[in-house]
Amino acid sequence: MGQAGKIVPVYEYMCSSCNTSKAVSRGINDKDPGYSCEKCNSVLVRKFALGGVQFNGGGFYSTDKG
Ligand SMILES: [Zn+2]
Repeated sequence: MGQAGKIVPVYEYMCSSCNTSKAVSRGINDKDPGYSCEKCNSVLVRKFALGGVQFNGGGFYSTDKG
Protein backbone atom coordinates (compact mmCIF):
# COMPACT_ATOMS: atom_id res chain seq x y z
CA MET A 1 0.00 0.00 0.00
CA GLY A 2 1.55 3.25 -1.11
CA GLN A 3 1.01 6.46 0.70
CA ALA A 4 -1.74 8.71 -0.55
CA GLY A 5 -0.89 12.15 -1.80
CA LYS A 6 -0.90 15.11 0.47
CA ILE A 7 -4.29 16.66 1.10
CA VAL A 8 -4.29 20.44 1.01
CA PRO A 9 -7.31 22.62 1.67
CA VAL A 10 -8.30 25.02 -1.05
CA TYR A 11 -9.95 28.36 -0.47
CA GLU A 12 -11.75 30.47 -2.97
CA TYR A 13 -11.21 34.19 -3.02
CA MET A 14 -13.13 36.74 -4.97
CA CYS A 15 -12.43 40.29 -5.97
CA SER A 16 -15.21 42.60 -4.90
CA SER A 17 -14.34 45.02 -7.67
CA CYS A 18 -14.21 42.90 -10.81
CA ASN A 19 -15.53 39.55 -9.52
CA THR A 20 -12.41 37.69 -10.51
CA SER A 21 -12.15 34.53 -8.47
CA LYS A 22 -9.03 32.72 -7.47
CA ALA A 23 -8.58 29.34 -5.83
CA VAL A 24 -5.70 29.17 -3.40
CA SER A 25 -4.37 26.16 -1.59
CA ARG A 26 -2.39 26.48 1.57
CA GLY A 27 -1.62 24.60 4.71
CA ILE A 28 -4.40 24.27 7.22
CA ASN A 29 -2.35 25.99 9.91
CA ASP A 30 -1.17 28.83 7.73
CA LYS A 31 -2.62 32.23 8.36
CA ASP A 32 -4.35 34.09 5.59
CA PRO A 33 -1.55 36.06 3.96
CA GLY A 34 -3.97 38.19 1.99
CA TYR A 35 -4.18 38.14 -1.77
CA SER A 36 -4.72 40.82 -4.32
CA CYS A 37 -6.53 40.68 -7.63
CA GLU A 38 -4.37 40.00 -10.65
CA LYS A 39 -6.50 42.26 -12.77
CA CYS A 40 -7.31 45.31 -10.69
CA ASN A 41 -5.08 44.80 -7.65
CA SER A 42 -7.95 45.08 -5.19
CA VAL A 43 -7.93 42.96 -2.08
CA LEU A 44 -9.50 39.56 -2.57
CA VAL A 45 -12.13 38.42 -0.09
CA ARG A 46 -12.29 34.81 0.96
CA LYS A 47 -15.58 33.25 0.00
CA PHE A 48 -15.44 29.69 1.24
CA ALA A 49 -13.31 26.62 1.43
CA LEU A 50 -13.67 24.33 -1.55
CA GLY A 51 -12.50 21.31 0.34
CA GLY A 52 -9.36 19.31 0.05
CA VAL A 53 -7.34 18.69 -3.02
CA GLN A 54 -5.18 15.67 -3.29
CA PHE A 55 -1.83 16.10 -4.90
CA ASN A 56 -0.63 13.06 -6.74
CA GLY A 57 3.04 13.80 -6.73
CA GLY A 58 3.01 16.50 -9.38
CA GLY A 59 2.47 20.14 -8.70
CA PHE A 60 -0.71 20.26 -10.74
CA TYR A 61 -4.25 19.69 -9.66
CA SER A 62 -7.68 20.40 -10.88
CA THR A 63 -10.89 21.44 -9.25
CA ASP A 64 -14.30 20.66 -10.59
CA LYS A 65 -15.70 24.10 -10.23
CA GLY A 66 -18.94 24.78 -12.00
ZN1 LIG B 1 -10.29 42.65 -9.45
